[in-house]
Amino acid sequence: MRITVIGAGPAGTLLACYLARRGFRVEVYERRADPRLLDEDESRSINLGLSARGIAALTDIGLMDTLRPLTVPMRGRAIHLPGGAVPFQPYGAHEGEILHSVLRRDLITTLVDHAEAQPGVTFHFRHRLVGLDRETAAARLVHEDTGAASTVEGDAVIGADGAFSQVRAHMHHGLRAEHHQEILEWGYKELTIPAADDGSARTRLEALHVWPGEDALIVAHPNRDNSLTGTLFLPVERFGEVTDPEEFLGERFPDTLDLMPHLAKEYAEHPVGHLVSIRTSPWHHRGRVALVGDACHAVYPFYGQGMNSALEDCTVLDRCVGDHPGDLGAAFAEYQRLRKPHTDVLDELSKQNFVELRDRLRSPLHLLRKKADLL
Ligand code: FAD
Repeated sequence: MRITVIGAGPAGTLLACYLARRGFRVEVYERRADPRLLDEDESRSINLGLSARGIAALTDIGLMDTLRPLTVPMRGRAIHLPGGAVPFQPYGAHEGEILHSVLRRDLITTLVDHAEAQPGVTFHFRHRLVGLDRETAAARLVHEDTGAASTVEGDAVIGADGAFSQVRAHMHHGLRAEHHQEILEWGYKELTIPAADDGSARTRLEALHVWPGEDALIVAHPNRDNSLTGTLFLPVERFGEVTDPEEFLGERFPDTLDLMPHLAKEYAEHPVGHLVSIRTSPWHHRGRVALVGDACHAVYPFYGQGMNSALEDCTVLDRCVGDHPGDLGAAFAEYQRLRKPHTDVLDELSKQNFVELRDRLRSPLHLLRKKADLL
């Protein structure tokens, strides 16, 4: 059987590995360029927190040992308070209770390499899905450089094409489908905490750093080169109103001025990203089409579980395919039945954790309570 996967993000690349392991022929189409051919500045270099669910999926496919050296452990949260104190909240009392920071590029290239090494898997970069016949699983694609159009036939199409999934749009078109989309009134911009001139880290490396605030919030993940990638969250309209980011952030988070020497330049040059939450149903159509990852459940990033749950989708879908040999319709239905209740809860938790990170983290009561938890 031949499966067409649309999107080579975390979900599409992991799913290609799983499907190949089950003996499917897999054609993956991705609108972006091959991340292995781009230099660091060209590729999306954001880093992501990998947690137990994602680690379980990557272990299941046999890749965690390859990936671990590419990650930085995060042993807890370092909370930067306005007075200068930086209390540290460990994630757990045991050695293994940690998260891992990984560059999206490192994760994807590892998965693409692994998938391509399996018989029957082919990646087609710079190809964008523009149409889909949901009854026959015929996908229409356009080459991003040449504009050449082609139609790809297969037994099923899996949409791993992210929050604004075209596979989902074509699958739902004209059907009784549910679709709830919310765009948060806050957006984000990436800012770097580079390594110091001597190559050392400017702040504790093995932690997720948080600067909580009611009208601005920064979260930073560590990188292997001793830098950290920070994400500044602000109400979207504030990004345009702030003309002096050093004054703005300096008033709220004084230590960022030393930590972010390129703040003004990066603030001016980096685009504002938007945050979307999506709940939708159905996730599949008659054994011909199914969705995984953000395509069926995008969440706000404040719980750090969007990618992890996208990876977990692939594990569950793989098991469902194994439990229903030769019947993709039954496998897809079982997959949605098992997964959707979990991802609906994740959506709620991700919204709640936005309020937690913004408002509660710096309250003395919260810090005392956290300390008491550890005793
Ligand atoms: P995506 O990563 O969106 O990949 C979809 C792929 O499909 C892309 O490569 C895209 O180019 C391709 N594509 C799209 N349309 C088409 C088309 N028409 N044709 C062909 N290809 C197409 N999650 C975590 O678990 N931990 C974190 O710490 C974390 N931090 C985050 C921080 C921020 C600021 C944001 C915005 C998100 C964060 N997330 C995090 C969420 C995480 O990034 C997503 O949940 C994850 O990337 C979803 O993976 P995916 O493969 O489903 O979709």
